[in-house]
Amino acid sequence: MDLAAFEQGSGSIDTRLAAALARIALVGARALARQAQQHALSALQGQLLEQLVRRGPAQIGALAAQLGVRSPTVSDAVSALERKGLVRRQPAGADGRGVLVRPSARGRRLAARHAQWTEVFRRATAELAPRDKAGLLRLLLRIIAELVQRGLVRQARICPSCEYFRPYAHPGAPAAHHCALVDLPLGDEHLRADCPDHRPLGGQALRVRLQALAAAEHGEGKPSPRAPAQPGTEPAPGGSSRSVAGAGWVERAGRPQVRARRSTPRGGGSP
Ligand code: SF4
Repeated sequence: MDLAAFEQGSGSIDTRLAAALARIALVGARALARQAQQHALSALQGQLLEQLVRRGPAQIGALAAQLGVRSPTVSDAVSALERKGLVRRQPAGADGRGVLVRPSARGRRLAARHAQWTEVFRRATAELAPRDKAGLLRLLLRIIAELVQRGLVRQARICPSCEYFRPYAHPGAPAAHHCALVDLPLGDEHLRADCPDHRPLGGQALRVRLQALAAAEHGEGKPSPRAPAQPGTEPAPGGSSRSVAGAGWVERAGRPQVRARRSTPRGGGSP
């Protein structure tokens, strides 16, 4: 059999990629459901508890937006968690309007155990070479950003969809990207999957970002080493740069300056 005949029986690479991702997604869904079941939770209740511990107390509407489900569904799950003594509802502000959901001490302990459902993926990737791990992280975050763009994932706090991210701002350097918030070069291995300082790009700017990433990774739009991309701009196909509206940068006397406050990174968070 020659390679062409072999390929005919394989399906396109896009089909095989989709099948591989679907397989992984299925394993994740099963691991999540199994772990939740062990703690007498539904998968949604488990996710809610994890979310509350990772991102802090939140109102029902915000939780619904974070998890991509309807508010009444979240409200039911919160009531169930409340009956189990894992969360409390309390007034959101001094005026008593709105309700914040807060995990109890028991809820925090359970959330830490529940978060171990991702262990299946940690083990499966443990033996990858560091460079492959970094590259895989970059590609997975890019795929998540594409899903954000298509409205299939909400509120993903990842570098590729962040206003402060400057992809390939340092072409050729080991840390090729840049975070404008903390003013640090970032390698693929530093990219965050759940950053508390993330500032989401709007729809049009995210589309431009994704096009620029695609061009850069195809080797078409990667900024030339002689003309590195300026912070506040996106590499465009052909190697030129263009401004991204709302990127959080302003040009003053030819030097880009960051508008936003600076903060110290607070851990990478979990996926
Ligand atoms: S580290 Fe955080 S603030 Fe910086 S680019 Fe990534 S998501 Fe944005």
